[in-house]
Amino acid sequence: MIYLDNAATTKMSKVAIEAMYPYLDEIYGNPSSLHTAGQQANEALTDARARIARLFGCEPREITFTSGGSEADNQAILTAARIGERAGKRHIISTAFEHHAVLHTLDKLAKSGFEVTLLDVHENGLITAEQVAEAIRPDTCLVTVMYANNEIGTIQPIAEIGAVCREKGVLFHTDAVQAAGHLHINVKEQNIDMLSLSAHKFHGPKGIGALYARKSIRLESLIEGGAQERGKRAGTENTPAIMGMAAALEAACANLDANAARMIALRDRLIAGLREISHAILNGDAVKRLPGNVSFCFEGIEGESLLLLLDDKGICASSGSACTSGSLDPSHVLLAIGRVHDIAHGSLRLTLSEETTEDEIDYTIAAVKDVVEYLRGISPIWRDLCSGKKEFIIK
Ligand SMILES: *Cc1c(COP(=O)(O)O)cnc(C)c1O
Repeated sequence: MIYLDNAATTKMSKVAIEAMYPYLDEIYGNPSSLHTAGQQANEALTDARARIARLFGCEPREITFTSGGSEADNQAILTAARIGERAGKRHIISTAFEHHAVLHTLDKLAKSGFEVTLLDVHENGLITAEQVAEAIRPDTCLVTVMYANNEIGTIQPIAEIGAVCREKGVLFHTDAVQAAGHLHINVKEQNIDMLSLSAHKFHGPKGIGALYARKSIRLESLIEGGAQERGKRAGTENTPAIMGMAAALEAACANLDANAARMIALRDRLIAGLREISHAILNGDAVKRLPGNVSFCFEGIEGESLLLLLDDKGICASSGSACTSGSLDPSHVLLAIGRVHDIAHGSLRLTLSEETTEDEIDYTIAAVKDVVEYLRGISPIWRDLCSGKKEFIIK
């Protein structure tokens, strides 16, 4: 099996599994308990928090553990909204191609009287700091822009956006779930006030993540209960998962440059191979994209059929976001960069890992070529396009 769906989730690394093991076994105390067993677990949490904080250039107390990226996004946005509300500011700026954890939270706020401006994304999958600067108003309480897009892999100018927000005194949150462990991040240098991450996107366990929030921000608790996480997130901490996350993140950051260089070479080999297919287009900027992300649209193709036939050939791929597959709506990300419905339906996302090999890439190029040719061969739409009855959209 060739697994090319690492944006959906990754395989756990051996270091992460080994780091978890003692906490699934011998060290099982509740970190809130005062006895020795509890204190052993509590020390582990303190250690993990410090190690994670160091990797992002912040203080340990600025890291709150959550159940993952979705929860961190929700908590960051709702916190900024409450802070804004108290100051009479009810305007939020984001982009049209955020993850649904952000967009749906913003929808909810819009229904309770907030005004949300979603910035247009350029066809190359990028926004600019100037767009953000122009959209900021006196009543803006939050700018939330994702670090790197989960479908098309484009990397936003986060430091520049952070500088604009800092200058204008507006809180800046970034969903860095696709970036953490894959790109260099320093929250202080990049003027990031809040940042979400999720362990299962960098070879850690599922169901665990973290929210960085600058110490001047008092996080709004989404879950009421005990005083865990300094009262910002009730519920007994998932010690094994937290230890797995810290180990996975350290390993990812230690090898970040070497991994990125290898993956970029393979990514560009895959892009070059798929560009040989006629009436195909790469989604997102060719350079400002995640080392492991390849996203294409093929004209005259239905994405779901493409995925099933690739699966038959042993390749795990995606049409876009794992969260939207199963729904018939085309991806909001592809629509946001200006792909029309018919084209957006013919999408394919292949996301590499550090373990992907050149042989796997070459096999995948050949397999996608075969499958696209086969599907076009049996497609009435393709026949109309070739006979000139319909006009090609992708030239
Ligand atoms: C996966 C993902 C999320 C959600 O993270 P979970 O830990 O699965 O809740 C949020 N944002 C982006 C960009 C993602 O890729």
